Amino acid sequence: MNRRSFAQSVGSAVALSAFARSSAREQTSSTATPGRMMAIAAHPGDGFFTMGAALGQQIELRGSGALVCLSMGEKGAPRDIPAKQYGELQRTATQKAAHMLGAEVIFLSYPDAEIPFNEESALRVCDAIREHKPDIVLTHWSGSWHKDHQNCHLVVRDAVFYAGLETVARSRPAHSVSKIFYAENWEDASSFVPDTYIDIEAVYEKWLQACDLYPMWRGQTGFFRYNDYYSSLSVMRGCLSGFRHAVALMSDPGQRMQRSHSL
Ligand SMILES: [Zn+2]
Repeated sequence: MNRRSFAQSVGSAVALSAFARSSAREQTSSTATPGRMMAIAAHPGDGFFTMGAALGQQIELRGSGALVCLSMGEKGAPRDIPAKQYGELQRTATQKAAHMLGAEVIFLSYPDAEIPFNEESALRVCDAIREHKPDIVLTHWSGSWHKDHQNCHLVVRDAVFYAGLETVARSRPAHSVSKIFYAENWEDASSFVPDTYIDIEAVYEKWLQACDLYPMWRGQTGFFRYNDYYSSLSVMRGCLSGFRHAVALMSDPGQRMQRSHSL
């Protein structure tokens, strides 16, 4: 199947090298300015395995990126490492991985498996959004079996809403996020329908090296083969989008409306 027939088959899917500050759908121009991206993840592994390549790509093209980790994922510790110690190892790995990609990292340090969905957590994420002023927020899709991932999705939705409301008085002024995207995650796969493909070739090797800082990526904490899954996924998504390696994201349904005088 050639590019033309692929484009016909996938309909409205878009393939991008980075997200523009103005509109993702306008990012076919090399002159568009990459926007600021904030990835917000329940656990550091989600942040790098599922969002890190898109974040790194955004930074690579002179945008900027920050990662918010709601917890350290410490309860995913292998049997021979106490959870508290594992959490510190996760923190160190995350700082190194973020440095490799050129991203800022913000730890909110909620207990793993107990990330709350409430006003306090939504306002803390709201404050992070107001401080870092992202144009684009990337987070978990709601169709997850994992309660932390579900709660992260809900917290971020409320946080984006609060961040843009001038009547929500916080220490920093209101900031409106232009776009929300959801990352492809094996644990959040229910009803996940990607529509946006990002070329990650420029950061592919760096992203793999960043992920490799985590024991989970190397299969040392459980049964799931994160390395094989996400590296293969990038090849498969690249095949579908005409890139060598790609990540596929799902746009928020609320931002898909397009206005036009003609088709
Ligand atoms: Zn997770």
